[in-house]
Amino acid sequence: MPEGDTVYRAAHRMDDALAGAEVTEFDLRVPQLATADLTGLWVDHVVPRGKHLLHRIGSWTLHSHLKMEGEWHVYRRGERWRKPAFKARAVVGTAHWQAVGFEIADISLVPTAEEEEIVGHLGPDPLGDDWDAEEAARRVQADPRPVHVAILDQRSVAGFGNVYANEILFVRGVDPHTPAVDTDARAIIDLGARMIRANRDRSARTFTGENRPGRRFWVYGRDGAPCRRCGTRIRATTLGADPTRERNVFWCPVCQPGTP
Ligand SMILES: [Zn+2]
Repeated sequence: MPEGDTVYRAAHRMDDALAGAEVTEFDLRVPQLATADLTGLWVDHVVPRGKHLLHRIGSWTLHSHLKMEGEWHVYRRGERWRKPAFKARAVVGTAHWQAVGFEIADISLVPTAEEEEIVGHLGPDPLGDDWDAEEAARRVQADPRPVHVAILDQRSVAGFGNVYANEILFVRGVDPHTPAVDTDARAIIDLGARMIRANRDRSARTFTGENRPGRRFWVYGRDGAPCRRCGTRIRATTLGADPTRERNVFWCPVCQPGTP
């Protein structure tokens, strides 16, 4: 699942390719936006905001969210796409480059002046220029729900997905079921911010410091495998803000005490 670091890298690749250039190709392959045309306008910037992407073009913002399957690719003009064309939902092209959004479930076009209506609800973003750890921690600390759920609430802190929530809580030694109000939210937030910043320029995300496949996570996806610290079997369950948002949760009952 794309997390804030993936979105950050995608935004920066597209910004490098597109910013300052005129749009020569603009094709949104979703029914309600099929007639939108921003050709002839200039790309100002492509910016990440939590897990949202904002292409600012002229006085418009093309907003997209990668959800579970979405990806943006950048190609030199004429280069062969790495995914089938029928999966493309958006193409933004300039004289030299094409940015292609594949399998993007959530895409919209709004005047940039109204961008806040789409992303204004988001909490502080650890990859943003205006990162406010104190405010993010305050919001998480005020949450009575399990800390795993609290960290994923994008209104409190924007950018962490399920992989981060699992890995952060392992490294902090916090049981994921613990009510967020009973945790040291500031320490959790600070650790998460360090992790996502360390990963933002890496193509393969790692939490353990190891880059070999299968060695990058402490607990995520390791149900039943031995804890890398103490050898205890990693446990798994699901937690979510509601039944539609249940996420897989992994933890070591010894390294993360407090398990019911
Ligand atoms: Zn352990």
